[in-house]
Amino acid sequence: MSITIHPSVDQGMKPAAENFSGGTLHCKCSSDPVEVSVSSQCAHNHVCGCTMCWKPEGATFAQIAVVPSDSVKITANEKKLSVVNENAAIKRHACRDCGTHMVGHIDDSKHPFYGLDFIHTELSDDEGWEPPQFAAFVSSIIEGGTDPNKMGEIRRHLHDMGLEPYDCLSPTLMDVIATHTAKQKGVL
Ligand SMILES: [Zn+2]
Ligand SMILES: [Zn+2]
Repeated sequence: MSITIHPSVDQGMKPAAENFSGGTLHCKCSSDPVEVSVSSQCAHNHVCGCTMCWKPEGATFAQIAVVPSDSVKITANEKKLSVVNENAAIKRHACRDCGTHMVGHIDDSKHPFYGLDFIHTELSDDEGWEPPQFAAFVSSIIEGGTDPNKMGEIRRHLHDMGLEPYDCLSPTLMDVIATHTAKQKGVL
């Protein structure tokens, strides 16, 4: 069986370009696309198996990264954006016409990832974005309809591609969250 992860991964990941400083993202609308300009390289790019991240047609995983919030500007057709779920910590702004998630923003200044926005670098034609580094929330692809019996093979495939599979975020990001929580509690 051939395993499909995400088009950007299946077609072969391209390395990050040195001194890359961002690019333009656009939604899938053929006319009047929403356009988002990002003036920064991304960080922690990864494939995500959760059922909340936007993914292209046929993909098993989403591909998602963070950038500093102040590097993100909506430059065209902002009126087509609306928030997918107002109750979620990450406010995912999606195009109402094509459904593409353009940017995920955190309003709560106490959130561990406050100050970072979530983007899908595949929406950019610019080359040089940091490619995915790991696979998050891998078990959740079962909730998206993947046969549980295929999980061993999928985890092996991810590992072999250099995308270490985790069932939460990567250890680095889990440590960031725990450190933030510990500081809020005053134990650190
Ligand atoms: Zn659109
Ligand atoms: Zn996700």
